[in-house]
Amino acid sequence: MGDAPVIDDIRKKMRSIPGMDVLLEGEWSRRWQASLGRDRVRRVFDDELTRIRRRLLEGEDVDLSPEPLRRRLEGLLKAEERRRLRPLVNATGVVIHTNLGRSCLADEALSAVADVASGYSNLEYDLDEGVRGHRNAHVEVALCTLTGAEAALVVNNNAGAVLLCLSALAKGTEVVVSRGELVEIGGSFRIPDIMAFSGAELAETGTTNRTHLADYVGAITERTSMLLKVHPSNFRIEGFTAAPRRRDLAVLAHERGLLLMEDAGSGLLVDGRILGLEGETDVRACLNEGVDVVTFSGDKMLGGPQIGVIAGRRSVVDRLRGHPVLRALRVDKMTLAAFEVTMQLYMKGEYDAIPTLSMLRRTGESMKAQATRLAARLRRVTSARVSVVEVEDAVGGGSCPELPLTGWGVAVTRHPLGGAGRLQALLRARDLPVLCGARRLADVDDALVIHVRTLRPGDEKELSAAFGDIESSVKGSK
Ligand SMILES: *Cc1c(COP(=O)(O)O)cnc(C)c1O
Repeated sequence: MGDAPVIDDIRKKMRSIPGMDVLLEGEWSRRWQASLGRDRVRRVFDDELTRIRRRLLEGEDVDLSPEPLRRRLEGLLKAEERRRLRPLVNATGVVIHTNLGRSCLADEALSAVADVASGYSNLEYDLDEGVRGHRNAHVEVALCTLTGAEAALVVNNNAGAVLLCLSALAKGTEVVVSRGELVEIGGSFRIPDIMAFSGAELAETGTTNRTHLADYVGAITERTSMLLKVHPSNFRIEGFTAAPRRRDLAVLAHERGLLLMEDAGSGLLVDGRILGLEGETDVRACLNEGVDVVTFSGDKMLGGPQIGVIAGRRSVVDRLRGHPVLRALRVDKMTLAAFEVTMQLYMKGEYDAIPTLSMLRRTGESMKAQATRLAARLRRVTSARVSVVEVEDAVGGGSCPELPLTGWGVAVTRHPLGGAGRLQALLRARDLPVLCGARRLADVDDALVIHVRTLRPGDEKELSAAFGDIESSVKGSK
């Protein structure tokens, strides 16, 4: 009985929700319909009215007077107008950030994309012979030059490359993998799953921390066709560990008439020392040590577009060429254009023209100077405390988890609007969102940390505009 007035209240509120016709007739709403289209505006209104009804039914109080309602709807329309996939500022110091699009393309690669995408191209046309050609031909020679492989192919990504190799080379047979290498790479790429999907059978051997050559020998049966080595890209087992040398695995495989395949993950096209990486094997060295076929990503350490490379012995790579998985995972012309030009930069030794490589190669000195400059700039626009700090960056992208990457950054503390979490949210909500790190500090609120390693040209200006705008909102609210 006592509920009756409440229910009456809700009924009354429900009746006061404006109808769709009324909303679509309004002057302001017509302006939006002209720019977004009537259907999109209707859908945004419809979704919001549904939300309002639900909230009222749950007993919440919703302000339905015309002005606040209009402001809320216009806010939603503005969000609708924005592109969903948008650029942002990466101030996290994680160079190959999978959630943020991994590698940034070189300028030269970008203009090659624009060239082939805005018109026709010889994507699958042989200009010498005047007949149909192969899209793979545009990158195969360069890949062979850079890796020493006899032949090479590209597909959509490295997961696809692994799938194609297993499907074409090992379907219906056993593939031996060390238990220490049965990895899961983020986004549901798991070696056992991809193996099952390809139709190959997984034969595990060894233990998580130690696998010996004898374990591989013991796991080989007459149904085995391949030994597979997988780069433990995103973790590291330390302490009492062992794995056979690649050379010894190759000798074993070849004595038994088997293939040795390696999923190299990131795929270094240069000696790791050029990037300051010790102990990472580059693709050329892999092949030199006897691996028959190696796969790797184009947009991790390589710094190119998303692509999966398969490189190795001609007799092996040729077995993949007509496979339906290759057709299903083929690479588009924009990717090929970007990839070809990225490889040309490698061949010319212009590593710093490739953003991923130049970010990895940055010196402490240059980052500290940039952080100092940025701090001075921010102090001019914010009343918060701004200081230059040493930070911990990361290669990211499931590459080299063990590699400590020291960087420099700017810490922002004692901001009038609050701590790091609040500032991070405000920065994310901008038209050009800014993503920053945070660090626990002993004496004050958590610090917002801007890592300079991953900033792109123009980002400093954007950061200063962002802090300026936040400062105006502080003043406005006073
Ligand atoms: C990253 C990675 C993959 C997946 O590569 P994608 O290009 O993201 O498909 C597969 N294997 C290893 C070892 C990796 O590091």
